[in-house]
Amino acid sequence: LSDKLNKAVKTLKGQGRISDINIAATIKEVRRALMDADVNYKVAKDVTDRVREKAIDRKVMIAVEPGQLFVKIIQEELTELMGGQAQSANLKGSPAIVLIAGLQGSGKTTFSGKFANYLKKQGRQILLVACDIYRPAAITQLQVLGEQIGVEVYAEPESKNAVDIARNAIAFAKSKGKNIVIIDTAGRLAVDEVMMKEVEDIKKAVTPSEILFVVDSMTGQDAVNTAKTFNERLDFDGVVLTKLDGDARGGAALSIKTVVNKPIKFISTGEKMEALDVFYPDRMASRILGMGDVISLVERAQQAFDEDEAKRLNKKMRENKFDLNDFLTQLEQIKKMGNIKDLMGMIPGVSSQIKDLDISNDSFKPIEAIIRSMTPKEREKPDIIDGSRKKRIATGSGTQILQVNNLLKQFDQMRSMMKKVNQMQTSGKMKSFK
Ligand code: GDP
Ligand code: MG
Repeated sequence: LSDKLNKAVKTLKGQGRISDINIAATIKEVRRALMDADVNYKVAKDVTDRVREKAIDRKVMIAVEPGQLFVKIIQEELTELMGGQAQSANLKGSPAIVLIAGLQGSGKTTFSGKFANYLKKQGRQILLVACDIYRPAAITQLQVLGEQIGVEVYAEPESKNAVDIARNAIAFAKSKGKNIVIIDTAGRLAVDEVMMKEVEDIKKAVTPSEILFVVDSMTGQDAVNTAKTFNERLDFDGVVLTKLDGDARGGAALSIKTVVNKPIKFISTGEKMEALDVFYPDRMASRILGMGDVISLVERAQQAFDEDEAKRLNKKMRENKFDLNDFLTQLEQIKKMGNIKDLMGMIPGVSSQIKDLDISNDSFKPIEAIIRSMTPKEREKPDIIDGSRKKRIATGSGTQILQVNNLLKQFDQMRSMMKKVNQMQTSGKMKSFK
């Protein structure tokens, strides 16, 4: 989506003056971009009609910065279309019960884990419940996630009845003093009566405070139809849009709210447990417009970076004691934040260019391997690494001596940079930098 919009908007941004003609042309471009992003025709037309009216109303043509005002109007319209305000999940009740529904492969189990992780970080006691009894691997999948994030998982591998499991799980949660129960359910590849009936029955049996419908944003227009069907049966409370990290065109985010009139509450942008964000309509609108989602990026960085660790590293940098051990820690922190590409994509101006580049978390693998092949002493004092040590490290890490050399050289440069910055800071030249 953003590519085309980017282009449409860029031409306007650079323009000192705007005429009737280029407003009309831009409106047309915007509408086409929206439709390319799987927004249905009617919704796209409504949006652009309103944008045009507002543009005329607010006298875009004679504004000081017409392009910016125009972009602002589009952004407001998109924000409004996606629900205006961010909406949180209703977690009332003791325990609060959250029911997760959606098609198979939409990302329910992954989201259940992420949501549990997210709530756990807020200090809640969570119980995950495995109600997908049809695929044997489904229970294991949830258990593995549970283990990974340190959240208890309730399962009854022998049971043939998802409704019973849900009921028993609630009783179990009460006895264990859990605050929140997240019920992961089974999905089918397409909407089907048996599945719908089962989720409906679970709903009746446990009366959830929150029903979240999970949908794969890559399924485009289908996502909207599926949402409609699930909403008619379940009257869910909110939508979780997954796989927004891939080629997803995001159009679903724009149409779902209009079609089912339920808010999108969360977005999922990767397979890692950290890749979950609250859905902010205004940020999504900015992101669609190619401005980047800086606020999300900062929030995620804050979550993943251990603050004490950051302080410790900072102190070491100031004292010129930053060594390869610290470098390795930093690499790990960066990886914890999720996929490098996702993160880069959120930086304004980077999104469109970065897509074609081959950056993956794998790019760090050789660097990590090299550092891990060093002894603690070598990591602390890279200067002692001579020719024979280099040879050993290269063999141990499955790399070439050249790569080891490059890493050491880069690290050296980095350190002397830090040193210079420190010197400048202490001599007062760069006080404003702190
Ligand atoms: P379920 O059948 O609805 O429970 O779906 P799963 O949670 O098992 O997810 C199906 C597949 O999609 C798995 O391979 C997940 O790792 C993957 N997946 C889930 N959410 C995301 C996401 O936000 N981004 C990406 N790239 N993959 C995802
Ligand atoms: Mg599942």
